[in-house]
Amino acid sequence: METDCTSGCWGRVRTELRSTIGADAFKNWIDPVVFDGVEQQTANFTVPTSFIGTWVETTYGDIIKDLFQQQGVKIDALRLVAARQPVPTPNGAGKPAEPVATKPAAGKMISTALDSRFTFDNFVVGPPNELAHAASRRVAEGGAVSFNPLFLYGGVGLGKTHLMHAIAHHLHQTKPESQVLYLSAEQFMHRFVQALRFKDTFSFKEQFRSVDMLLIDDVQFIADKNSTQDEFFHTFNALVDQGKQIVISADRSPGEIEGLEERIRSRLQCGLVVDLHPTDYELRLGILHSKAESQAEHYPGIKIDTKVMEFMAHRISNNIRVLEGALHRLLAHGSLIGREINLDVAQDVLSDILRQSERKVTIEEIQRKVADHYNLRMNDMLSARRARAVARPRQMAMYLSKRLTTKSLPDIGRKFGGRDHTTVMHAVKRIEELKKTDGQIAEDLELLRRMLEA
Ligand code: ADP
Ligand code: MG
Repeated sequence: METDCTSGCWGRVRTELRSTIGADAFKNWIDPVVFDGVEQQTANFTVPTSFIGTWVETTYGDIIKDLFQQQGVKIDALRLVAARQPVPTPNGAGKPAEPVATKPAAGKMISTALDSRFTFDNFVVGPPNELAHAASRRVAEGGAVSFNPLFLYGGVGLGKTHLMHAIAHHLHQTKPESQVLYLSAEQFMHRFVQALRFKDTFSFKEQFRSVDMLLIDDVQFIADKNSTQDEFFHTFNALVDQGKQIVISADRSPGEIEGLEERIRSRLQCGLVVDLHPTDYELRLGILHSKAESQAEHYPGIKIDTKVMEFMAHRISNNIRVLEGALHRLLAHGSLIGREINLDVAQDVLSDILRQSERKVTIEEIQRKVADHYNLRMNDMLSARRARAVARPRQMAMYLSKRLTTKSLPDIGRKFGGRDHTTVMHAVKRIEELKKTDGQIAEDLELLRRMLEA
């Protein structure tokens, strides 16, 4: 086994890492990391701050080691050394929210900027989100009945962050003296780690406990991070006991967040738990009209045909953020070519988005199809049985999940009875090899793929 690793090898590790952990996490945490080579089975890196170093090591260390191993380079340890000067970041884009090398001024209130567009006025209400909207409004207005905590959950791009900002804006306007703190769970964690570093957890606690309303977005990020969960729980209890309002969002319900401690889970379920359902056609159309209207001043004279709006609301159904992106692209295109955007133009300009929004295969569908094909039960896909007749199809299902969905290896592992990402990685490799040597397997895979994509 070779012991040194040129930058080419790190390049391959990076590529794999991006597909394993997802583009967003990659941009935030791995992009700032500089690879300095391997020495005595230790991979050396320079990182802009020690926070990023600690984060990368604890969160991605094992995956990185495995990926090096796959490149034939055995790594026992990672050494991530903080650059003495913070590495300048030209525009800050994609980097963790703020420089971490400075200690926050004692007692100063911490808060995150709110997006001025995310108000109740700009939120279009329809059956899929009316409950979440009503609950958010109630919390913002502070009615007699308290919903504490308010737990909002739902898929990506359905408006959770928008509603949380709207609550905070409303409170700022109606009660300017109140202390409102909005943070992503990642920022919460970041601040906590920072306080630990500066041995300043006391003022960290004080800052949080002195707020009137605490909003924490994307709380699924603190599952599995035990010390942060502990701190979160204490802060949470202290605030609820003082009658302060808490609003939390996550991409799934408290019951479905893995790695969340039981006491936190049950405490979260004590308040009001509401979900944002996937949007329907009318809601999407309403949102498109509202966004087009609010963009009108930036694109004077550009008109998008109603037919085009309807077409978009029909075809781009998964995520409002994508829908908005599509609208902006059309407007920008319209302002370049200077004429009305009709259906033909729209189809052309949006072809890649439309292709991506086509019906997506799910891991469950893959498991079911593969199980049917081999006369197995669905349960065999999830079980720990190692008999070849079960294990091989299961590996094929993992392989297809990796190829046909955008899920990460850890996500896929979880769907297969809580397996580790290394098991999935192994399965993908194994099937890749077998495809070349075993005609039957190659044929089965091809058939399954076609049925799934049909
Ligand atoms: P989430 O936090 O659930 O992933 P966001 O709140 O960031 O989603 O919403 C994604 C984008 O979609 C934002 O630009 C938001 O303004 C917009 N959006 C979502 N729901 C609505 C809605 N009901 N009305 C208007 N805009 C919406
Ligand atoms: Mg969000």
